[in-house]
Amino acid sequence: MAARSDGADMRERPRLSFDLDVDICVVGAGLAGLTVALEAARLGASVAVLEGRHVGWNASGHHLGTVMPGFALPIGELIARIGFEDSRELWSLSKQGADYVRANATEGLMPGIALSEGALEVSNVEAGEQLISRLQMLSEDFETDVEGWQVDRVRDQLKTDHYFHGVYHPKAFQIDGRKYVHGLAALARRAGARIFEDTPVVSIDASGIRKRIVTPSARLRASHIVLAGNIHLGEPLRRLSQTLLPVWRYAAVTAPLGERLTEVVTFQGSVTDTDGIDHFRIVEGDRLMWASPETTWAARPERFAGTITRRIRTVFPRLGTTEIAEVFGGAVGQTVHGMPQIGQLRRGLWVTSGFGRQGLNTSAMAGQLIARSILWGDERWRLFSPFELVWAGGPTGRVAGHLVGMWGRGSSAAAGALARYRERAQARERIREARLLEANRQAGTRPPRRPTPPVRPRPMRPRPPVPTNPGEGEGV
Ligand SMILES: Cc1cc2nc3c(=O)[nH]c(=O)nc-3n(C[C@H](O)[C@H](O)[C@H](O)COP(=O)(O)OP(=O)(O)OC[C@H]3O[C@@H](n4cnc5c(N)ncnc54)[C@H](O)[C@@H]3O)c2cc1C
Repeated sequence: MAARSDGADMRERPRLSFDLDVDICVVGAGLAGLTVALEAARLGASVAVLEGRHVGWNASGHHLGTVMPGFALPIGELIARIGFEDSRELWSLSKQGADYVRANATEGLMPGIALSEGALEVSNVEAGEQLISRLQMLSEDFETDVEGWQVDRVRDQLKTDHYFHGVYHPKAFQIDGRKYVHGLAALARRAGARIFEDTPVVSIDASGIRKRIVTPSARLRASHIVLAGNIHLGEPLRRLSQTLLPVWRYAAVTAPLGERLTEVVTFQGSVTDTDGIDHFRIVEGDRLMWASPETTWAARPERFAGTITRRIRTVFPRLGTTEIAEVFGGAVGQTVHGMPQIGQLRRGLWVTSGFGRQGLNTSAMAGQLIARSILWGDERWRLFSPFELVWAGGPTGRVAGHLVGMWGRGSSAAAGALARYRERAQARERIREARLLEANRQAGTRPPRRPTPPVRPRPMRPRPPVPTNPGEGEGV
């Protein structure tokens, strides 16, 4: 069994070794950064992408390639947070993101992209009524093509008693993830963007009209900086990195399974379960590509082969033991509220990050929104303003996230619960501070000096950390 190579070693990587002046500097050559670069270059801007390692080094080159509308945050929670009308608009943007990927992911533009159609969301519990209301909402209110599948139909295509009802998305699709990120880079280069690899950004000064970007061997000046570094952004804006909870996910591809596989799985699209544990699909005719549950620590991908084999056997006992051919994975950035970070932090300083486990359509949508805002003044990114930058917990929060994950059914669900807990804690903290302020005002005493977080930041600004205590998260 091998860890997957991403083909990057076979290419020569151009580094930035001379000073440069551009309209837009993008930090990070993952899906998010490359989409902004491609769109901005197509609209006529001069663009430089600075990548600390190489194109698609992290999650963007190591994912399962399922493209669906929506966000990592479940739609019901989205509506509860921002209301029905704004949710509809965001959902529609997320559909446009999926359309954008489809338009790029053609054999003509990206040879070998291997696009296949359809995705099935399956329920781990008997939840027929919930399914019907979800179907109605998606098709009638959110104008999304969906079909409800009864238990029999699901089990006809997936021979397991693990799953019950299903929601079939005929317009969802899947692509070869590595081919897509390298294809995006090729399209961006062709449109005129310059991509420099092995070029980490070590600091930025975003205060002036012309912003300064420092790398180990050269400096850049740009009117706009787009931060697309996900959890690895680091020094250029550490407080921004701290608004993301890093979550690692690994996936394996089995050795060919021959007829054993066709006897138990005939569905050819992606399958995801409602608990966020299983995500799999058939690749190359008779292999399974299967993602492991999420973790909040990094490890060698090979370590997850056993976990994934066991998970496959639990869901499909008839497959018996499966041999794993390769394992790969990466870290995604999860926000406290579950929605991506898309917007302008200050004039000319942009962020596109925090896409979590659903990064293909969402980063495509974000890339278009940001490029069009910079070059055309399109202000639709402001729909994301209700989702502020909230501190995600630092090391304590991460460990707590993992512990909670071990108790819960799925660590992603638990991480979501932890995140929501933190958000509530943050709200409580704001109320506490307001009370303290009022008490100080009445007593005529000076309050302790602390930065006051804006209530509804436009533009977005990172919030100061919530004071933690070691037991944070344990009450979730
Ligand atoms: C196993 C797995 C399966 C997945 N499956 C799916 C799926 O089926 N469908 C889906 O929609 N999503 C999926 N995802 C999620 C998706 O892959 C991510 O949301 C997406 O790739 C995030 O892209 P990004 O560009 O924000 O981040 P990244 O891929 O992390 O890219 C950021 C880049 O920025 C660079 N960088 C960071 N800091 C600096 C700096 N200071 N200077 C220079 N460069 C810097 C990094 O080196 C990195 O290359 C999956 C993820 C994983 C791990």
